Amino acid sequence: MSDFLLAHAGLAEAGLFAAVLAVLWVMELRVSAVRAGAKLRHTLVNAVFMSAALPVQAVMTMACLAAAGFVTARHVGLLYLLPGADSAWVRIGLMFVVLDLLDYVYHAIMHNVPFLWRFHLVHHTDQTVDVSTTFREHPGETAIRNGFALLWIVLCGAPLEVVILRQAVAAAANIASHTSMRLPPGPARVLGWLFVTPNLHHAHHHFQLPATNCNYGDVFSVWDRLFGTYVEMPAAEVVFGLDTHMDAASVARAERLLI
Ligand SMILES: [Zn+2]
Ligand SMILES: [Zn+2]
Repeated sequence: MSDFLLAHAGLAEAGLFAAVLAVLWVMELRVSAVRAGAKLRHTLVNAVFMSAALPVQAVMTMACLAAAGFVTARHVGLLYLLPGADSAWVRIGLMFVVLDLLDYVYHAIMHNVPFLWRFHLVHHTDQTVDVSTTFREHPGETAIRNGFALLWIVLCGAPLEVVILRQAVAAAANIASHTSMRLPPGPARVLGWLFVTPNLHHAHHHFQLPATNCNYGDVFSVWDRLFGTYVEMPAAEVVFGLDTHMDAASVARAERLLI
């Protein structure tokens, strides 16, 4: 079973990722006033980042899955110090929640360590957040992000099945949180009690502090509420981008941002 998951997880996840992106991209175009040509040009800039990061992501995904397989086989990691490490609630449920907390920690580190921020800011320079912003990531950040994921897997002893589940759910959550289609206030409030909504992640993409350093959550929004980094902003107040990089022509040049 483990070999089957290892061989097919990456492919299945990539297919799911591409299909959901395509459907949301078309839906965004239909409900927004943005013209197809402008949206396509914007998407192509972000696609440069995706093509640069894809080989790094593919290699690192295999490394994460191999590491999870290794720690599971050898019973390495904090999981095995817990009572009930054999129960699905602990192995899958608790571990999924712990990995989400560690993704919050990772995101906060990327914002607060100046050297790492230089990589992560590329994601934040997008002045038109939509589904394509999901894959606007410097390949250096792709390596760093997966390096942290490897560390968390080994530290926690994360089982292979939870790593696969986590990668699929986090990918879906990231796509959903970047879509330009905000939720109406009621559903946004109810869902936002537990999950990161597009409305909450849009505030994270606001061009000025302190909003940029809020809403670090990946799947669950509870960490931001717990650690005092939660913020809500109405759509009319959100301005996408970074106040240090507001020149629209510069942030549309992928090669400049990569350097
Ligand atoms: Zn960020
Ligand atoms: Zn984002």
